[in-house]
Amino acid sequence: MKVYLTAKTVLTPEAPVANGVVVYESDGKTGTIVAAGARNAIEVPAGAKHIDYGNAVLAPGFIDIHIHGGAGHDVMEGSASALAAVEELLARHGVTSYCPTTVTAPMDVTLKSLEKIGKAVSDTRAGRFSDSGARARPNGIHLEGPFISTAKCGVHPLKDIQKPSVEAFEKLWQASGGAVSVMTAAPEVDGALPVIEAATKRGVMVSLGHSDAESAETKAGITAGGRSATHTFNAMRSLNHRDPGILGTVLTDERIFADIVADGVHVAPDIVKLFLLAKGKDRAILITDALSATGMPDGKYKLGVFDIEVKGNLCMNGDTIAGSVLTMDAAVRNVMSFADWNLANSVRLATENPARALGIEKKKGRLAAGCDADIVVLSDEGKVIKTIVGGVVA
Ligand SMILES: [Zn+2]
Repeated sequence: MKVYLTAKTVLTPEAPVANGVVVYESDGKTGTIVAAGARNAIEVPAGAKHIDYGNAVLAPGFIDIHIHGGAGHDVMEGSASALAAVEELLARHGVTSYCPTTVTAPMDVTLKSLEKIGKAVSDTRAGRFSDSGARARPNGIHLEGPFISTAKCGVHPLKDIQKPSVEAFEKLWQASGGAVSVMTAAPEVDGALPVIEAATKRGVMVSLGHSDAESAETKAGITAGGRSATHTFNAMRSLNHRDPGILGTVLTDERIFADIVADGVHVAPDIVKLFLLAKGKDRAILITDALSATGMPDGKYKLGVFDIEVKGNLCMNGDTIAGSVLTMDAAVRNVMSFADWNLANSVRLATENPARALGIEKKKGRLAAGCDADIVVLSDEGKVIKTIVGGVVA
């Protein structure tokens, strides 16, 4: 089936286009964009179904590369029903694909989770869908730990942090069936560099974080393959003007991307603005780091084995911030309000940039021919009107 969408504005990779159109071809479960651009420059195929979104903005679907759960479920549960509940919530907030993210846990627990989530990822990659629901789809797993710094572990349990070894990494990789896309690792820990190299060789996007690294150690991590930085400012050695450390390098090294939790709580709004000035519209990425409590009322929840209390937009484990209840559409709107960025540039941080960091920009994160028909319909203020996943309209 051929479909064409029209709207006041279409966000193409080059620029926002007025009176735009997106044409895609769908088999009811997957869809591919055939063309996107100005209405008068694109020939709409005869017999195509037309959906007009009037004054709205058509944007690529959001990609969240760091998310632990939502709707009362943690992705580490790994069951089809738990993942479906999270994926439905994500789609309501404009997210069309995501990296289910593990927390550091006992090795046997992690391996079991990886088997289950890995199967969901493999099924998606092979185009095997149990139904045609318009839910966010997993791109690949994000391993947050176990190769992180004990000095900057945040709420990750100290006892489960592992000494980095290629052997342990391979065990995790094999358990997932090759479904790991991202790994957060601390470059300064003994044995980390060979693991970063091995993971990079496997096609994993290594993101430096949960780290107490000095600047030189961070640069060594980048040389070994590190491509991004995880929740910049959080669980990182603090910035000092005579000892720049990991932060000084992450903010200034043009070789790497960096992501941030822009909820206004993890990092103050002015520091989000500083981050955006440093990394710019091509290297900054938004993540949510959202927990199972996202989309749920205030109360007590679990993060792995930890008790979490959620009040408003704060998630606390005792005195430590423990993940967020942020949604990606809210993060995009926060960038607009914290830094006075326009919608098109703010959207890039949740679409094209994470896709480029993952190396999947030919399929995801852009409204361009050949990309999956993952589309979010937004208001001018960045509110989600409709989400389309693989050509399936939610
Ligand atoms: Zn996290």
